[in-house]
Amino acid sequence: MKSVDRGEDIGYNKAMNKYIDLHLHLDGSLSENCVKELCRMQDIEIPKNLISMLRCPKDCRDLNEYLRCFEFPLTLLQTEDAITYAVEKLCYETDYRYCEIRFAPQLHCKRGLTQSQVIEAARKGLKENYRLILCCMRGGENEETLRLCGDYMGKGVVALDLAGAEALFPTCGYKHLFEAAQRMGVPYTIHAGEADGPESIRDAINMGASRIGHGVRAIEDEAVMKLLRYSSVPLEMCPTSNLNTRVIGNIRDYPIKKYIDYGITVTVNSDNMSVSDTDIKKELRLINEVFGIDESLLLNNSLDAAFN
Ligand SMILES: [Zn+2]
Repeated sequence: MKSVDRGEDIGYNKAMNKYIDLHLHLDGSLSENCVKELCRMQDIEIPKNLISMLRCPKDCRDLNEYLRCFEFPLTLLQTEDAITYAVEKLCYETDYRYCEIRFAPQLHCKRGLTQSQVIEAARKGLKENYRLILCCMRGGENEETLRLCGDYMGKGVVALDLAGAEALFPTCGYKHLFEAAQRMGVPYTIHAGEADGPESIRDAINMGASRIGHGVRAIEDEAVMKLLRYSSVPLEMCPTSNLNTRVIGNIRDYPIKKYIDYGITVTVNSDNMSVSDTDIKKELRLINEVFGIDESLLLNNSLDAAFN
């Protein structure tokens, strides 16, 4: 079992490269090779149309169609060996300076694993400069995830998240969950302003979120833009994912430059490498090409915003 180094300052790690990704879902980021190996490990026939099962179509209509691409990978991530292998492989394939991989332990218990076993298995595959974020699910049972997040803080786990159907289960319904997290000293990021409007971002900030996942729709409400600026809560923006799910229709309408000019702290991330067919280098290149924003500014923001 590999040991997980927890305490060192990430600024002094021996960097394999300069890249940092703070918003990366495990189940949405399994490479084709990884999935094939997971199939072999579990005597599951490799589907002929594997790529189309892992990647959202170019004309993806909405978040629902996007979320369908998580179904097959999740069926493969229900054993300890599979979870360890997937985390190890993702660390190896990305080889970033620093990365926070997130997943929802409760979605990996369909074949009898406990959430604690899921987290242990993920830790076992973790590289020393990589960390884990545990996702609570909107509409899910989250008490156990919260409790375990407290137990594993500083042991490879750095924060809690809230993911899932934002419009169906509004952020304001999770006040008690995050009050409990605060009492436990567990920091958290919240997916907000992706499928739901700017009020979701306002609620997340008022509930003490250290970072916001996406935050694209803050642009619709200047009061929320002001709140982001004065609270200095960084946004984890994921451009290609937001294009895929039609939060924006055209990359030129992406509000990242407006946010930076307004004084909001933004970071750029991949969200789901396989579903969106991307990685942090592609995302930074896209933002540079369209808006002329230098990647060093964004990577420095990521370094500052890291939970480590
Ligand atoms: Zn996400």
